[in-house]
Amino acid sequence: MSTATPQKFEFQAEIKQLLDIVIHSLYTEKEIFVRELVSNASDAIEKLRHLQITEKDNIADADRALEVNLTTDDTAKTLTISDAGLGMTRAELIENLGTIAHSGSKAFLKALSEGGQKNSNLIGQFGVGFYSAFMVAKTVKVYSRSWKKDEPAHVWTSDGSGSYEVEEVSDQERGTKIVIELKDDAHEFATEGRVKEILERYSAFVSFPVNLNGKHI
Ligand code: ADP
Ligand code: MG
Repeated sequence: MSTATPQKFEFQAEIKQLLDIVIHSLYTEKEIFVRELVSNASDAIEKLRHLQITEKDNIADADRALEVNLTTDDTAKTLTISDAGLGMTRAELIENLGTIAHSGSKAFLKALSEGGQKNSNLIGQFGVGFYSAFMVAKTVKVYSRSWKKDEPAHVWTSDGSGSYEVEEVSDQERGTKIVIELKDDAHEFATEGRVKEILERYSAFVSFPVNLNGKHI
């Protein structure tokens, strides 16, 4: 099912709790969100590679390069991360980004409920995956088109404050593009030099080419 008009959804209660902590934490290593999003992009490409074997003739945009591309826009204060991975359908955007599926965030909430540690330490210890973007974001937009042919593309939008919207879009190729509009105190992540420095530290561990503003890292 798809729809051309934006539809609004509430985050699951656990996600709301997680987001509230992530957004208000004084955790200093905010830069880890770059690693989390690049690792999601890399996972998505890895899954696509498996589908290329099992679903050979059924993959949309079959010729896309299997790369992770980051672009900074110092004027708009945005950081964009895109991949040509397996993408997400509308239902998958809602399921994967709106409910607590992933083990790191579950472990985070469990440790939190058991108490004893500062929230900021917990973010570093367990990782909060995709949601770490909200440490630096005013809004996060996730454009995605599934590898399944004839599935329409959608954009998922949230400011992290309890709800998100999903709307159909026309101009997104197979894969996912995440646009982060940065908070005023996080504009550094819209500058090429800062993002390059972060990527250089661990992109060697990513199995696919990583490009920043069109240049290979
Ligand atoms: P994890 O990576 O540990 O599963 P995350 O919070 O980082 O948890 O991501 C949640 C889920 O959202 C992923 O499991 C995946 O299904 C989906 N997802 C996130 N980023 C992407 C992406 N770039 N392409 C496709 N799916 C993605
Ligand atoms: Mg992840």
